Amino acid sequence: RGAKTFSKDSSATVTWADIGGLEDVKTSLQQAVEWPLKFPETFERLSLKPPRGILLYGPPGCSKSTIVRACAFASNATFLTLSAADVFSPYVGDAEAAIRQVFRDARAATPAIIFMDEIDAIVSKREFAQGGSGGSGMALRVLSTLLNEMDGVEVADGLLIVGATNRPDMIDAALLRPGRFDRVIYVPLPTTEDRHHILKIHTKHAHLANDVNLSLIAEQTPYFSGAELENVCREASLLALRESIHAESIEMRHFTKALTCVQPVSNATSIATYA
Ligand code: ATP
Repeated sequence: RGAKTFSKDSSATVTWADIGGLEDVKTSLQQAVEWPLKFPETFERLSLKPPRGILLYGPPGCSKSTIVRACAFASNATFLTLSAADVFSPYVGDAEAAIRQVFRDARAATPAIIFMDEIDAIVSKREFAQGGSGGSGMALRVLSTLLNEMDGVEVADGLLIVGATNRPDMIDAALLRPGRFDRVIYVPLPTTEDRHHILKIHTKHAHLANDVNLSLIAEQTPYFSGAELENVCREASLLALRESIHAESIEMRHFTKALTCVQPVSNATSIATYA
């Protein structure tokens, strides 16, 4: 059985304006992803080696995937995703073939970004892999195939690999050697100001009543991720709708109630593990 072919992910039409806050992360990624893909000749002329791989890590729901899509869109690059399901699916049959295939497809469509979400599920630490249930040999083969493919990428290839994880401690150290994932970027929880920005983004098409104070909601939501703030906005709209099918707008009380329904998964202790 052959591996599935990987085609351009068309949901990549996300722009930087869709992502609230995270200005430092955006700048780092623009320099590390957009510039080398858009201006490879300049990098060659100046003898600069852009990173081959970039690893994003941080708490869940903080736009790691979204930000890479925005990068791909801004760089006019093909965006290919490789998940653990693609690699280990019984339908794929051959995990190593799936990895080789995504690199082959990416090379045929450069400039391209291969995005591996939850990369820890694809290549976890060897000791974990060996202790894991069944297929430890398979986990090692997957890791070495990925390393081989990454080592074969040349600067001028216009191909970049981006991995994302909530569990950086689970990543095999071999992946972090120079020339592999040699840029590691932390994507933090949003600050109060970022949360305000994110709330504005996720309510921009809604009618808000005059009493809605997004800046107050931002202050009341420490440890909320962008995804959770999006949930709060969705929940507030649903509450308004359930109250009246003719609802004119979302009111502050809907947000206040929504805040009692959505709880952040992160807290001071979980965030400390990323330090
Ligand atoms: P996970 O680690 O759970 O895979 P992630 O960090 O990759 O999550 P995304 O999947 O990119 O996060 O984010 C989920 C959703 O949350 C996005 O589709 C987006 O709508 C919203 N979101 C997260 N962060 C932001 C942000 N900074 N600005 C706007 N929306 C955000």
